[in-house]
Amino acid sequence: MSGGDMAKPLLGHRSMEGDPSITPAAGRTIGVLGSGDFARSLAIRLVCSGFKVVVGSRNPKRKAGLFPSAAEVTFQAEAVKKTDVIFVAIFREHYSTLCDLADVLAGKILVDVSNNTEINHNKESNAEYLASLFPACTVVKGFNVVSAWTLQSGARDGNKQVLICSNNQEAKRTVAEIAQVMGFTPVDMGCMSSACEIENIPLRLLPAWKIPIFLALGLFLCFFTYNLVRQVIHPYIREQKNKFYKIPVEVVNTTLPCVAYVMLSLVYLPGVLAACSQLYYGTKYRRFPDWLDQWLQHRKQIGLLSFFCAALHAVYSLCLPMRRSHRYQLIETAVKQAAEKKMNIWVEEEVWRMEIYISVGIIALGLLSLLAITSLPSIANSLNWREFSFIQSTLGFIALVISTLHTLTYGWSRAFDENQYKFYLPPTYTLTLLVPCTVILAKVVFNLPCIQQRLLRIRRGWEKGRYVKFVLPSAMGEYSSGETSSNV
Ligand code: NAP
Repeated sequence: MSGGDMAKPLLGHRSMEGDPSITPAAGRTIGVLGSGDFARSLAIRLVCSGFKVVVGSRNPKRKAGLFPSAAEVTFQAEAVKKTDVIFVAIFREHYSTLCDLADVLAGKILVDVSNNTEINHNKESNAEYLASLFPACTVVKGFNVVSAWTLQSGARDGNKQVLICSNNQEAKRTVAEIAQVMGFTPVDMGCMSSACEIENIPLRLLPAWKIPIFLALGLFLCFFTYNLVRQVIHPYIREQKNKFYKIPVEVVNTTLPCVAYVMLSLVYLPGVLAACSQLYYGTKYRRFPDWLDQWLQHRKQIGLLSFFCAALHAVYSLCLPMRRSHRYQLIETAVKQAAEKKMNIWVEEEVWRMEIYISVGIIALGLLSLLAITSLPSIANSLNWREFSFIQSTLGFIALVISTLHTLTYGWSRAFDENQYKFYLPPTYTLTLLVPCTVILAKVVFNLPCIQQRLLRIRRGWEKGRYVKFVLPSAMGEYSSGETSSNV
């Protein structure tokens, strides 16, 4: 896999934590407009962090009891007069009701904490709208990605990052300073044009997971239908046997490992395709097609879903003997055996096959668990690049090879038994081997010295057919220069 494989999660924006320009701000007075859930949690956290808090409400008498006694609850205009930094904890549609306060708000910092109900709901972001209503104020977008619950429980139990943006550096620094004192990690997202992106963040539903989830569901559906036809429909049509009871456990349990195995190979297939493209074009500077780019970016999620399916397969397999159908079948076999006066049904080859099958399956699941654990940001961040790449790339590939052994020992000689071809359909395991074996074969080919060398050179910047100027080191005594094709 390329050096950038399974890249660790990187923060796309600058973390302001530890910024020497940020100085402690505890003790200063902070204003909060609004007395709802967010305002209350914010006030509690600010008070706990050592700030003086003044809350502006339309009805201070009624709302005062909801706030800690250390916080002053007063009318909006009174609150605004007492501070330079004001958190606007009210909904966008009520911003215009604050216009009466425009004069007292002039020159102050307004922190817009609002969220929308839909992605890109309005043309302009809420923060930009607030700024347009109060041109004499400095608006900073921030704290909207933190829930009221996180604010109350402190930064320990929830998301620690507070994304901040503003066109005014000084105001941004002031809000970052407050966030840091409250125990959060301020992240500078740049100027006000980022507000829309920040407001969309809490509304996104697993954006990086959509494609991998659809892929897993698609594979599950295909393999489930295939197994259903082979295990249930075929005996029903050909032998009039009712095997529908197999659907909830057996068919699902033969489908899950197929999905897990193919998904695992799909983690490594884009790396192979990327390497093929680099070898073909003789450069690493050519952009991959968008679909390959997207695929490379989703490998972590595909790998985690593979682990999820493998773990479910393990649980289902452990539960197989618990089923009543299994007990009936065991008793039936024993009765048949007794009737036929068979004493020994031990088949050495079958015993060994099963022992090896289970053992390699457990090892494969263990390796997949390791890959899943190390893909967690907190663990990944504690590893250096070499350790991370060894686990994700080398151990991941070993997991794929061991899963292949697991599949082969499961199938054993069934591919050569014509009774296994139901409706002329080959056993499912033979289909699942297709992609993983291609990946393994490609990896072996890429490791051949001649190809590996070329790939390594390409990844270090060498390009096919490109002429480079070289200069012999002057230490050789003679200064020499010339043109040569670097691919010679
Ligand atoms: P909420 O419980 O409904 O509180 C909204 C507050 O706005 C009211 O308590 C009210 O306080 C004040 N307000 C001022 N003018 C108003 C008007 N004309 N009509 C109605 N209310 C008016 O809402 P919330 O959950 O605290 O959310 C407040 C803001 O924080 C929203 O923009 C939301 O998107 C944002 N936010 C909330 C969370 C969260 O977890 N709740 C998380 C992130 C961001 P007074 O009656 O005292 O004036």
